[in-house]
Amino acid sequence: MNVVSGVKIAVIGAGYVGLTTAACLASLGHRVVCADIDPAKVRALSRGEVTIREPGMAELVGAGLAEGRLRFVVGAGEAAPGAEVVFLCVPTPMGPDGAAKLAALEAAVAELRDPLPPDSVVVNKSTVPVGTAARVGELLGRSDVAVASNPEFLREGSAVHDFLNPDRIVIGSADLDAAKRVAALYEALNAPILLTDPASSEMIKYAANCYLATRLSFVNSIAELCERMGADVNDVTRGMGYDQRIGTAFLRPGPGWGGSCFPKDAHALLRSAAVIGSDFPLLRAAIDTNARQQRLVVGKVRQAVGGRLAGTRVGLLGLTFKAGTDDLRDSPALAIAELLAAEGAELVGYDPSMPGAVAGIRVVDSAYAAAAGASALVLLTEWPEFRELDWERIAGQISGRYVVDARNHLDPLVVHHAGLLHQRLGQPAPH
Ligand code: NAD
Repeated sequence: MNVVSGVKIAVIGAGYVGLTTAACLASLGHRVVCADIDPAKVRALSRGEVTIREPGMAELVGAGLAEGRLRFVVGAGEAAPGAEVVFLCVPTPMGPDGAAKLAALEAAVAELRDPLPPDSVVVNKSTVPVGTAARVGELLGRSDVAVASNPEFLREGSAVHDFLNPDRIVIGSADLDAAKRVAALYEALNAPILLTDPASSEMIKYAANCYLATRLSFVNSIAELCERMGADVNDVTRGMGYDQRIGTAFLRPGPGWGGSCFPKDAHALLRSAAVIGSDFPLLRAAIDTNARQQRLVVGKVRQAVGGRLAGTRVGLLGLTFKAGTDDLRDSPALAIAELLAAEGAELVGYDPSMPGAVAGIRVVDSAYAAAAGASALVLLTEWPEFRELDWERIAGQISGRYVVDARNHLDPLVVHHAGLLHQRLGQPAPH
């Protein structure tokens, strides 16, 4: 196959997915215009200032700008003229009934409708309910413009790496030529490409995310049983993971799944099922189990401070939904913080991404400051640096003795040697 180079691409949305798509496609030799509705973001990006924490992103954006392969504009309409392929990477947040809100997508499509050149392809990269590609086609009302679905699977914290080294690329379109044109953009990536219909493509994204969320809820439930039955979940999951039908990924218990995708996607699929008069009891149970897991962690903290949270100070280690990102959206750490605060705990938190102000939490600039005077310390995000802390220093500053490790992240020997009680998930209680 020929290497396609220099295709004129518009990317709508300059967030985690849009900026990654724009910067990576520019690095593959395409000519990319990336549009956002936020003028301040566009100005900053045009100067090469990347505000999200993603390894390699600043370098790619800088190189794209310097080579003239990447530029930023305000508004989808500004990016449309001349575009051969347009990627929609706008937010699809959860609405009050659980369904994905498509307002941003519809607004972008309305802006694109007139200025889009004939024979262009509009590609949906946002996570959207089954049927949205067809809806985008209707909204466009342009028989000379094709529509495709190309869901994104990148993980925050390794977005650039994941985009350039995908496990697979999924493209769904009723127009095979359009699907092949989109596939050709990725030719240099050497990844398996699955061409399918739009509905299947849209479902693949939901099925993948909901499966991973369900798997985590399953492991959290196993961890709870392990703890109560005297088994060690770390050994149990290791024993499970050796089974090649199971594998080792996504088998670690934690404070519940969160982030900007899993909760909204799980609710959206459940809502989609309800809309067609169906149900998904397994997914519903995974969501309920997740809420229960957060309460379970709160219960451990309550126990650690002696049974009553009101009037105690609790130190929080980690606020982001996982390590390596600065994203606080739907973070389980914040959900747990809210539950602790509702019981009257005073919260002092530290996160290596230095998130600035967070409602209800006094954010401090070191783990030691979070521990100072705390009745208990709770580790909520698996930042590697937490393993390297001087735990003896922490032991000297904390007023209680318990470290509730909601990620099973710390070295038990180190915490124990510091004279602290290390409460993990799915393992016998410390004494
Ligand atoms: P984000 O909030 O980081 O970025 C969205 C950007 O779109 C923002 O900069 C916003 O200003 C801009 N925007 C909103 N409306 C616009 C409009 N009408 N025109 C132009 N720009 C507009 O969101 P994200 O995390 O990049 O997610 C985007 C989509 O990708 C969602 O559907 C999400 O579910 C999906 N997704 C996200 C991830 C992830 O890890 N973040 C991974 C895979 C898929």
